[in-house]
Amino acid sequence: MLKDFSSKSTCIQKTQFELKPDMPVCQADYPLDWYQAEFIPYAEEYLALPDRNLATVIPWMKQYIEPALEHFGDKLLLLAHYYMGGDIVKLIEKFGGQIGDSYQLALMAYNHPEKKVIVESAVHFMAETISILAHQDQHVYITNPKAGCTMEMFAKDFMVQPALDDLNERYGKDKILPVCYMNTSGRIKAMSGAQGGAVCTSSNVKKIFEWALKQDKKILFIPDKNMGENVAAWLNIPTEKIAYWPGGTDGANYSLFAQDEKTLKRFDEAQLILFSSYCGVHTYYKPEMVDYWHEQGFNVVVHPECEKETMQAADCCGSTAFIYDHVVNDRAGTKKYAIGTENHMVQNVRLICLDKGIEVVNLGDAKISKYKGMGCGCATMSRNDPPHLVATLDLLRLGKIPAYNEVLPGDVVNEFTGDKQTLDADGQRWIIDNAKIALENMIRITES
Ligand code: SF4
Repeated sequence: MLKDFSSKSTCIQKTQFELKPDMPVCQADYPLDWYQAEFIPYAEEYLALPDRNLATVIPWMKQYIEPALEHFGDKLLLLAHYYMGGDIVKLIEKFGGQIGDSYQLALMAYNHPEKKVIVESAVHFMAETISILAHQDQHVYITNPKAGCTMEMFAKDFMVQPALDDLNERYGKDKILPVCYMNTSGRIKAMSGAQGGAVCTSSNVKKIFEWALKQDKKILFIPDKNMGENVAAWLNIPTEKIAYWPGGTDGANYSLFAQDEKTLKRFDEAQLILFSSYCGVHTYYKPEMVDYWHEQGFNVVVHPECEKETMQAADCCGSTAFIYDHVVNDRAGTKKYAIGTENHMVQNVRLICLDKGIEVVNLGDAKISKYKGMGCGCATMSRNDPPHLVATLDLLRLGKIPAYNEVLPGDVVNEFTGDKQTLDADGQRWIIDNAKIALENMIRITES
């Protein structure tokens, strides 16, 4: 049984972001055939609006969202991640919802048992984690199940299983400790929990690794290659003590027993084995961009999913919530910040800081000719646009929400085709029981 984790680190403050009537919706319009059939009537209405300014979009949304809020009352909880566009972030807040990072969102259902209907605008693994920790009478929905995460996509269970099997066989199950990043499916979390491992997030990764290192086992970190290298640097794990398992389908086809002597020796001596998936958004940032902004007097803060060289060049590195606090509260006292993280988050922080006299730029906007001069947004998360939110809430109110939008433990959604596989009740139970072990280990270590 989980205890009450509604502590300081999981409390969320309102963003200080204001919706302005002339503010445009930041998500691009999608073609109609990108919407699931039941959502098309809502998308048609949205696409027919004369413009995408909030003065136009909000009244259209209100006619659907307000009846849903009235219908469900306190039972409804709207959630969004910081990486959603500013309009969705503030709309969610405007309609009584909460914004958080992946750790904060994960605990939302658990810490709010009075909320029975939870609607998330973020990526699928985040909604799935909420559903794993949810109470039995809570239902979790995602506005667009195709909102996946590229890092998670290249660390699916069938890609990771050969790594765990081979390592267990060569070194013994009791000598391998899987630690998985929050950005993994419930199946990976369950695989880790079943072997005594833990989940970590960007805000607690150092603490979780310190716990793992005390156990005198090889750590299999699934994924992220960059965060693994960064935390190894923080904890003085030498590079020669790190071995790499390839990410994606290469990982599915890799076998420890087909490797040459030199590679095997590397694995034998490794303290840390990194499953090599990574985030395409954060790997865009490079050390020369940091140098550029330093020359202009900016304090540079990056997310630990950035490459090690970028992290080492920056002034500080931390989770989404850390970056938000560092910049909005001008912790470095510079009033000038270059941020290396997802671009919607950077733009949201930039707007909040405008009135505070704090200048915020995207690290990727360094004027260096070989780069395109713009930070990346998380394109998959942005698939949760206003028509998806409106359609989800209206269909929920009408009792017509498709099963497709409910997120159950163990669900796998193909980000390209949208096809979804759901496990039977026993399979879901196995995922819940074992993923909870890994999540509870994380929570216990983080909150202790
Ligand atoms: S920013 Fe990267 S790691 Fe985060 S959800 Fe998007 S693809 Fe995944």
